[in-house]
This record gives sequence, structure tokens and C-alpha cells, in this order.
Amino acid sequence: MTDRYGVIGNPIGHSKSPWIHAAFARQTGEDMTYDAILAPLDGFDAAVRAFRAAGGRGLNVTVPFKLQAAALCDDRSERAREAGAVNTLRFDATGAFGDNTDGAGLVADITRRLGVTLGGARVLLLGAGGAARGVIGPLLRERPAELRLANRTVDKALDLERQFAAEGPIAAGGYDALAGRAFDVVVNATSASLAGLVLPLPRGLYAPRALAYDMVYGDRPTTFLEQARATGAATLADGLGMLVAQAAESFWLWRGVRPDTAPVIARLRAS
Ligand code: NDP
Repeated sequence: MTDRYGVIGNPIGHSKSPWIHAAFARQTGEDMTYDAILAPLDGFDAAVRAFRAAGGRGLNVTVPFKLQAAALCDDRSERAREAGAVNTLRFDATGAFGDNTDGAGLVADITRRLGVTLGGARVLLLGAGGAARGVIGPLLRERPAELRLANRTVDKALDLERQFAAEGPIAAGGYDALAGRAFDVVVNATSASLAGLVLPLPRGLYAPRALAYDMVYGDRPTTFLEQARATGAATLADGLGMLVAQAAESFWLWRGVRPDTAPVIARLRAS
């Protein structure tokens, strides 16, 4: 029987996940379907129960249900626990297992596809929301020389510094504390680019050969990437690669097969 998967959220019409997983299934010859599921804002648990009762094997979870997904799991991965949010559910005889593949997706896109080494690098992470929280553990496990956090609301960044202090060299502050500092990798995990806003970043932020990475993606370079280009970043990347790489990580959790992300990213970009 064909195995059923899907992505659940509200809204969900914009999701690229059905297209991405259909491409992975074709590429790997896996016998599966993958649908977009719109859950009512007050009906997430019921929608998941109905999906499981109909034989569903796994779900991706998107806005605004990632925290509720974490609450309904019988068991969670370490990276889902530290992120405090679940974007992947797997259902089997032992129950519902929750994972968070965002951080692994970011690290895979930076190291494998873009060929940038995070080990020993000076890394700056902008933002302290859900996306930032999800990638800190995976970034620290790459053993950077330092992981600097900067956020508009400084207290949120300081909270994350405290949470992850035992995991590696992490320090947090506001944007004004970045003056005079240079980084090899700068990751934008704020949603400022979505609104076309420019972050108050000082000049001289980018070391020679530095990578600027925006988790936001779109048809055109984001405001953050435009600013990075103008202020000396050598390599620019948006979050489309992360989107496909986190999907590949979910696919691996469900099917035990790793799809090749490069052709899928290329086709998405072209379309
Ligand atoms: P949250 O709402 O949880 O956090 C938003 C963050 O952006 C906060 O740190 C907030 O700062 C900051 N921010 C918002 N507006 C501004 C501004 N004008 N100036 C400075 N900082 C600002 O969102 P998420 O963390 O869930 O998502 C962040 C972005 O990452 C989204 O755009 C999302 O689309 C993207 N994303 C991409 C993924 C991918 O696969 N490519 C995966 C996950 C997320 P403050 O705390 O001060 O409010």
C-alpha cells in the first residue's frame, strides 16, 4: 500500500513541500503520496488524529503549529527538545516521534552545497525567534570559533545565550555591539527581509571571503543580501537551499533514504 505523508499548517496553500517531496519520491523511487493539509487554527490535534487514523505515516508541521506538534509527541529528538519546536512527525507502532530538521537543513546547505566550513569559523546569527532557536544547537555542533547572536530585543538573545552556554562558545547582544567585529559566516534568521526592512548592521561586518546567508528566499535578492553585497560579503545565499535540505532530512527520517537536493533546488529556482 502507498504510504501517506503531508504538510499541515494554516495557511498552507503557499507551501512548496508537496512539490519538493514529490520530486524526492520520483528521484528515489519511493512509493508514497504527500499532500497539503489545512488544519483549523483550533483543530490541529484533531486533524493529526484523523490523519493517523487514516494510516498516515508522517507529517511536516508549519506555522502556527510547531509548538503544538512538540506537545503531542510521545518522544522527541534532542534537537527538537532544544529547539522547543517540532517540524517533522513520524508515526509508527511506538507512537508519534517529533524531530526538528531546520538546523540540520541549514548546516547541510552551508557545508555540503555551498562548501563553506563552519568548524573554526566566526559565525554571526541575527534574530532570536523560532528559526534562530532551532539552528543554534546544530551550528554549535560544527565547532565554530564563536557563535555570536544579535537581536533587536536583546533579552531574547541573552535568554538563548544562557540556554546554550554549555554547548559551545556562544555570546549574545544587540546590533550596536557588532561595531568593529568581523565574521566569516553571517546568517539572517530575522523576518526583516519579508517586510523589505534593512537591519542596522555596521560596516566591516564581513571578513574576506565571508558568506551572507538569508533564511528568507524569493525571486529576487532580499534586502539583507543586497546590503551584504554592498558591504563586502563574498558569497550570497538565500534560504531556498535550507528549505529543500530540511525537507530532505525529514525524508531521511521517514524513508531511510537521502535524496539529492541539488537538482530539486535548481528546478525550484528555475520555476
Ligand atoms: P519569529 O517571528 O519567531 O522571529 C522573528 C525574528 O525577526 C525576531 O528575532 C525578531 O526580532 C526579528 N525581526 C522581525 N522584524 C525585525 C525588524 N524590523 N528589525 C529587526 N529584527 C526584526 O520568526 P521565525 O524565527 O520563525 O522566522 C524568521 C524567518 O526565517 C522568517 O522570515 C521565516 O520565513 C524564515 N525561515 C526560513 C526557513 C527556511 O527553510 N528557509 C525555515 C524557518 C524560518 P525581535 O525578537 O526583536 O522581535
